[in-house]
Amino acid sequence: MATIETYDFKGKKALIRVDFNVPLDKETFEVTDDTRIRAAIPTIQHILKQGGSVILMSHLGRPKDGPEEKYSLKHILHQTGKLLNEEIRFASDCISEEAFEMSAALKPGEILLLENLRFYKEEEKGDVNFAKDLAKHGDVYVNDAFGTAHRAHASTAVIAQFFPEDKMFGLLLEAEIKSVDRVLNSTEKPVTAIVGGAKVSSKITIIERLLDKVDNIIIGGGMAYTFVKAQGGKIGNSLVEDDYLDTALHIIEKAKAKNVTLVIPVDTVIADKFDNDANRKEVAINEIPDGWLGLDTGSKTSEMCRETLLKSKVILWNGPMGVFEMPNFAKGTKDVATAIVDATKNGAFSLIGGGDSVAAINQFGLADDVSYVSTGGGAMLEYLEGIELPGIKAIRE
Ligand code: AMP
Repeated sequence: MATIETYDFKGKKALIRVDFNVPLDKETFEVTDDTRIRAAIPTIQHILKQGGSVILMSHLGRPKDGPEEKYSLKHILHQTGKLLNEEIRFASDCISEEAFEMSAALKPGEILLLENLRFYKEEEKGDVNFAKDLAKHGDVYVNDAFGTAHRAHASTAVIAQFFPEDKMFGLLLEAEIKSVDRVLNSTEKPVTAIVGGAKVSSKITIIERLLDKVDNIIIGGGMAYTFVKAQGGKIGNSLVEDDYLDTALHIIEKAKAKNVTLVIPVDTVIADKFDNDANRKEVAINEIPDGWLGLDTGSKTSEMCRETLLKSKVILWNGPMGVFEMPNFAKGTKDVATAIVDATKNGAFSLIGGGDSVAAINQFGLADDVSYVSTGGGAMLEYLEGIELPGIKAIRE
């Protein structure tokens, strides 16, 4: 398999699938968060430095039926050019004659951005002819879009067949795979996974798989109450999935059999309504009065988590401990984030991956103090579930 580090890009046109699906201001269309653009910069710069030229392709938003002004990638040209300190050409249709002329005319060191791929419905359908057309832009295909690696779209997977020898991961995608594999195949122990979030049902496959991979699993967030109820606790009006009580008991049994320590919260911050300004108190998690609901983990639970995390060599965090979006119920999540930061300072490897824990670590301003923050929400979840992501498979096969 070709790799970006060893490939000779001199005089080559590199067609890079990036994830420039960034949020834009609704009125001015300015980029409001350029994290994803920043994440792609090292790959682009590497190829330019080697004497290649670059054709960037991405989707933006969810256009319904053809081109829509608000989803045009021209809105991100300015910010991308600024980050690269380079001028970027723009093709206003990704497979028009003009676009092919522009890519054909690119000289080493030059960059072309193609218009939103999803302006063609063929992109999401994984249409082979559309992929074949796109492939005409480049001599080499680089996939650097982890955020869409779980989709079998034309530009993320199908296109790879047109570059049998000249296809590879970009630096970002490579780093994502490396960091998650470091957790799943760790030889350093103990490994601790924190699995939080709203529901057992959406995390069950991940928990089952992690039981074979890690030493400790900390359960947090709304799903904890299903575990507590399954064991006979009183959870008041807390979030619960009654269809999953047996599943929760089964996980507890399986963890015992596999010698995995399951840390289930022992105390909780309860509220008399789902509101930041609700009345609050801290109680044992199995003694929640009727009419009250648990929205955060309590201080004893934070202490237990901290103790486990500080002993860990490898940490995976997926999903918040409580409703961290409300400041009065963010403490449990922040305590865990702080413990991960301290463990990282002591030499542990920490990966924050999958949707809301990434939002949480950013909200606390601690993203730079952990080892790796993943850029792919859904993709990371599917990778953790053990699914072979189409975007990764297409490069490897
Ligand atoms: P997920 O997308 O499954 O990772 O769930 C994340 C969401 O779970 C966040 O929006 C949290 O606000 C929410 N959440 C966490 N703890 C609770 C809880 N105790 N009750 C209700 N929602 C929760």
